[in-house]
Amino acid sequence: MIEVSKLHKWYGDFHVLQGISENVEKGEVLVICGPSGSGKSTFIRCINRLEEYQKGTVLFDGRDIQDKGVDINKLRAEIGIVFQQFNLYPHLTVLKNVTLAPLKVKNAAKEEAEKLALSLLERVGIHDQAHKYPAELSGGQQQRVAIARSLAMKPKVMLFDEPTSALDPEMINEVLNVMKDLAREGMTMLCVTHEMGFAREVADRVIFMDGGVVVEQAPPDEFFKNPKHERTKAFLKEIL
Ligand code: ATP
Ligand code: MG
Repeated sequence: MIEVSKLHKWYGDFHVLQGISENVEKGEVLVICGPSGSGKSTFIRCINRLEEYQKGTVLFDGRDIQDKGVDINKLRAEIGIVFQQFNLYPHLTVLKNVTLAPLKVKNAAKEEAEKLALSLLERVGIHDQAHKYPAELSGGQQQRVAIARSLAMKPKVMLFDEPTSALDPEMINEVLNVMKDLAREGMTMLCVTHEMGFAREVADRVIFMDGGVVVEQAPPDEFFKNPKHERTKAFLKEIL
């Protein structure tokens, strides 16, 4: 579904991604970990073109995403992203946060968009909060709204960039549980996270990035039990 080939990116002179090649199959759950500054966010942001890259290719369903003919709004509808900061619109209710993009980008009918939004809010466990404003919600609830908002575009792939790292500990699981459900329902997911319990439970593969390259990758069992590279071992020692 996603084929990344020899991806390079520079910020000015700084060579942040130094040749990343990764294929992600439909329904696959990939967990990406690695030290701060290793390029994890940059890598997943390239996949829905929040960042441009200078060399290599990213194919989505066989199409080169940096091709001139690609409709970037459509691409971003198909590849949703959830960030560490929830980025909800503070002046809109939860329901309106979730219906906004379908109404604006997809020209959905209001009634349909609201019906879908309410069912997604139900799915993430907060349909009773639909008429509140983001500031009236806990961090975990806001993050679940952000996930529902992405899902409202009916994406084929979901990208997560440390979605739980801004949350108080007691709220982390409510967000991880929503992500686990999504994974089990067959969503294709690329998740930057250091939640290794999540990785163990639902990841098909874990990749470890350092210095703009993928140092090591393996199914979670093998990755945690038997890391091969010194850098991976040192990293795991620090976070586990
Ligand atoms: P973290 O775990 O802290 O989120 P990360 O692995 O996600 O780190 P990135 O955010 O992808 O790392 O950043 C990789 C490197 O690129 C870092 O050294 C960072 O300082 C640099 N960088 C990121 N964004 C920019 C930018 N817009 N301009 C210049 N350098 C940047
Ligand atoms: Mg990051």
